[in-house]
Amino acid sequence: MNRDLAHQSIAVIGYGITGRACVRFLLSQQATVCVFDRDVNIQETVMSDTNVKVAVFEPDMSLSSFSIVIVSPGVNPHLPCFATYREQGGVLIGDIELFAWFNKTPLIGITGSNGKTTVTDMLGKVLKSAGLHVQLAGNYGKCAVDLLLEQAHKTTPLDIVVLELSSYQLEMTESLQLEFASILNITEDHLDRHGNFEAYKIAKQRIFTMAKNIVVCRDEVFSYPPTIELNEVGISNENTRICAEVGLLNSLTGYSVGEILVSDCLSNSNMDNCSSDLAQAIAEPCIQFNGTALFALSDLHLKGSHNYINIMIVLAICDQLSLDRELTIKAICDYKGLPHRFETIRVSTLKAADKTSTITWINDSKATNVGACQAALACFTKSDDYLVLIAGGDAKGVDLSPLKEVIDSQVNQLIVLGKDAHKFIQLIPNAIHVRNLQEAVATSLSLIQKADCANAVVLLSPACASLDMFVNYQDRGEIFASAVTEQMA
Ligand code: ADP
Repeated sequence: MNRDLAHQSIAVIGYGITGRACVRFLLSQQATVCVFDRDVNIQETVMSDTNVKVAVFEPDMSLSSFSIVIVSPGVNPHLPCFATYREQGGVLIGDIELFAWFNKTPLIGITGSNGKTTVTDMLGKVLKSAGLHVQLAGNYGKCAVDLLLEQAHKTTPLDIVVLELSSYQLEMTESLQLEFASILNITEDHLDRHGNFEAYKIAKQRIFTMAKNIVVCRDEVFSYPPTIELNEVGISNENTRICAEVGLLNSLTGYSVGEILVSDCLSNSNMDNCSSDLAQAIAEPCIQFNGTALFALSDLHLKGSHNYINIMIVLAICDQLSLDRELTIKAICDYKGLPHRFETIRVSTLKAADKTSTITWINDSKATNVGACQAALACFTKSDDYLVLIAGGDAKGVDLSPLKEVIDSQVNQLIVLGKDAHKFIQLIPNAIHVRNLQEAVATSLSLIQKADCANAVVLLSPACASLDMFVNYQDRGEIFASAVTEQMA
């Protein structure tokens, strides 16, 4: 493929944030650019001082006059016009492939159904704390191609770019070269776009063909390259090597969560090395490496098993980069997480007849699939706390039934809303159907009042996309938070 783009005729399909970044980059390379978008008003929004051609996108249009077609992540690349273009030998790529053609900075790639943004963001902060010049890009942070333009004008080059990669981006990418990569997990999502789980999984696992070193999660079978036996750190598959393994179960190898016994310390030949702080830390659950305690879970702001995995992935990559362990651990422990991801937004009290209930309100609006909701529910054990789950929205064609068991065992009352509320009701017939989040909050309060419990949790973890009722997941989370504030005032 000729990567000198000057005077090549290139189509950009979709004129959202990514499409615009691609156009900027292509123009900087003196390409001849034509933009297509479904929006018939697109003409008005395309940069008027450039000679970019603009047209309305039709799924069966001919693209044969273009030497390259760049498809935005939001556009389905399986539409007839793209299939025909490919059959004719056309070069159909996404923004990350365009970035890969020109990138010179070492890359770390993070993908998975859940946890990508948390890991990408945390990794960025930890790498920065080690003094590295880092940028986050891809599906989170900057558009990757914008980095190319920025780098061209900067005197200090970046040390590293952490790329969050979605399945949509990965399926349109092939020549990315990642120093390190990880698939955090793969659970059903986006089946409305990929068609079936297998196709979605294959799209995600494309990352293995582009990575030199991978960090795998023992608890997630799909985080291993399909041709590599499980639990074999150090072995390689053509160009890919498993460099580290993390997992929740206590293990003497790799990164794991352990209960370090005091006797581990007592057996140390030099008792003077065993400070009183360490003695206290090793009596608790902790993150460990090769069976040795590194830090206590109680030192972390992030909570929940899913976050312990995220943390171990970050730690493993930083160790592979030979960063100062102490600085890495400090930065990990300082990391506070991102809004809308299992975020405690308020702790309030409610007076019932003869008891005062303490209510913890958790906004997990970013839980847009079943896996994320399962991870949230796994943070609770059936105890005296009364747990209300608010779920529902657009399930994106996935099977919700894996939630049944965990809802039956952990949740005292399910409240549902949105397009696929009825699918939850088929699973959990006593679910309460509400019209909006204000009603969900009011219903939660009256349930907690009746339950007369000391502690209650109201968890918004929808397991569904938000677009049927809200602008996006942030909007859903903010409306939930406002409803809580209004009704608790
Ligand atoms: P993504 O970018 O992949 O959507 P986020 O970090 O934004 O991931 O988190 C999305 C949702 O997934 C949130 O509800 C969060 O609590 C949950 N989550 C985060 N990490 C994990 C994980 N490792 N496994 C399962 N769920 C996770």
